[in-house]
Amino acid sequence: MSIEIKIYNKIKLMRLGVVITMYIVMLGAPGTGKGTIGKILSQDLDLTHISTGDIFRDQISRETELGKKIKSYMESGALVPDDVVIETVKTRLLEKDVENGAILDGFPRTAMQAEALKNFLKENKPNAKRVAIELDVPDDEIIRRVVNRLICSNKSCGAIYNKETKPPKKEGICDICGGELKKRDDDNRETVTKRLAIYRQNSKDLVDFYRKNNALYTIYPKDVDVAVKDIKKFLEEYKKGISQG
Ligand code: AMP
Repeated sequence: MSIEIKIYNKIKLMRLGVVITMYIVMLGAPGTGKGTIGKILSQDLDLTHISTGDIFRDQISRETELGKKIKSYMESGALVPDDVVIETVKTRLLEKDVENGAILDGFPRTAMQAEALKNFLKENKPNAKRVAIELDVPDDEIIRRVVNRLICSNKSCGAIYNKETKPPKKEGICDICGGELKKRDDDNRETVTKRLAIYRQNSKDLVDFYRKNNALYTIYPKDVDVAVKDIKKFLEEYKKGISQG
């Protein structure tokens, strides 16, 4: 979307009195498309995309204190402890580029994190709304997606490919920026099975948490473009509902 169209849309919405700051939470097991869909939504809706997994991988690659603390959790597919995750996200959410809302990809992952986000927004951004999008994909398809996943190693690109369903034109090379495509260290069958089990353990509470607030949209994202279109439609309806009180 061009900058002119974005500004025009914003002015139009302001005139209608429906500028709503939204924090959109992407729920879903690994490999359901949170990253891919989250990045497209962030561009289309002009919202900052925050992935806790990306933040943590960056800390590990730069060998920071935080990176050293979380490395073993990530490598084994376990969750990073709640207090560490919550502190990291709170710090990130106070940065300037998040003032108008954000797409949260991979956070919250536990009921405690969801509660912390709720309290943080209440205190710091009292008019903001939280909405959750749940991407629901069968386990066997998730495993197939993850073991075949390739990611552009150029951090400013980060495009996601799949050896089976979305191969790059040239093997090992990103179509968009020419960067080298790599497999994530934790994208193997053993770790993914563990990450999936952990997700299933926590997801019921998380989904219930957002369902209670009438702010949950569940979708089986078979096709990325269709899923993005459906999610945007839901978000428009949600905003309309709020602005009409
Ligand atoms: P992701 O890139 O979202 O698949 O996350 C990769 C790994 O980062 C996870 O398997 C966890 O070890 C860690 N991680 C990311 N986000 C969280 C979170 N919200 N809570 C706990 N651990 C997390």
